Amino acid sequence: MTKRKILVTGGAGFIGSHLCRRLLAEGNDVMCVDSLFTGSKDNILDLLDNKRFEFIRHDICEPLTLEVEQIYNLACPASPVHYQFNPVHTTKTSVNGMINMLGLARRTKATILQASTSEVYGDPEIHPQPESYWGRVNPIGPRACYDEGKRCAETLCFDYHRQHKLPVRVVRIFNTYGPNMHPNDGRVVSNFIVQALQNKDITIYGKGNQTRSFQYVDDLVNGMLLLMNNKTGFTGPVNIGNPDEFTIKQLAEKVLKLIPGSKSKLIYKPLPQDDPRQRQPDIALAKKELGWAPTIKLEEGLRKTVEYFRSVLK
Ligand code: NAD
Ligand code: UDP
Repeated sequence: MTKRKILVTGGAGFIGSHLCRRLLAEGNDVMCVDSLFTGSKDNILDLLDNKRFEFIRHDICEPLTLEVEQIYNLACPASPVHYQFNPVHTTKTSVNGMINMLGLARRTKATILQASTSEVYGDPEIHPQPESYWGRVNPIGPRACYDEGKRCAETLCFDYHRQHKLPVRVVRIFNTYGPNMHPNDGRVVSNFIVQALQNKDITIYGKGNQTRSFQYVDDLVNGMLLLMNNKTGFTGPVNIGNPDEFTIKQLAEKVLKLIPGSKSKLIYKPLPQDDPRQRQPDIALAKKELGWAPTIKLEEGLRKTVEYFRSVLK
């Protein structure tokens, strides 16, 4: 693969840190821009000495001047707990931040990949969700700062593409988990594993019969690289996720099975407002355009993630 100067925004976060590592391993120069709102230098500590890696603490809501050939725009809090902490800033990150990154891409003639989300489908009536589905999002609810922000970011990508011929890529990421998630991230996989390792109650929201389809982070990174570097100019939006669907209760049971000594019990808490009832990606388009499919089963990915949390919680 050609070696390039690549910007990863949100590079000190969970997914971004895996992406930076992979891009460096392939011989690229990587600039990691992150405000450290939810990310941490710990995630990239081993990269700081690498001469081909640069960390810049910066909020993408402010303009940025750099020379780059590719941009992966991942900067945005992803856990509901974090994106609802300062919802106005979440929308600004997706909208003003996206405009800044698209402007940078336009000036440098870089290809830009936007990390969009399955949340653009909202609480879907169509199952599984294909890219052609326009979604069912509550525009004024507590999740809207994230969902509508990401929808507007997609709009901006396609307007820059049509208006300025900018090469864009849009990936709709479905629930992804793995090492480098923050122990207090608040999302379900990290919550359940941390609770089980600490013998605390496992907090199931609602009855636990809502579903999600969980993807291991390495599968996602493979998909993002294939999308960015495809030779046909395929822009997406494209779903990247693992279609194996589980109820949240099943997930809790799987986590407990992997941590046999745990004394944790399942407890039930109120379901948050607008929590989607079901979610599963239709990945036919990713298979057709990118030759991509996930390879890591939930048990295998959970095992690696449990090992990671065991080491950081010591
Ligand atoms: P994360 O919270 O671990 O990482 C986000 C990173 O962005 C953090 O390092 C944070 O400090 C940084 N950031 C936030 N706002 C910023 C700003 N204004 N300027 C600069 N940096 C900022 O979350 P993640 O799971 O790694 O998610 C990465 C991206 O992927 C996000 O855009 C998210 O919306 C998207 N995504 C993730 C999932 C998932 O399941 N993990 C699913 C769908 C979409
Ligand atoms: N969830 C849960 N317990 C937790 C955290 C989350 O039952 O401690 C549920 C949450 O209500 C949702 C699902 O797990 O139905 C996935 O939540 P997460 O925040 O990980 O992702 P998202 O809702 O954005 O898909």
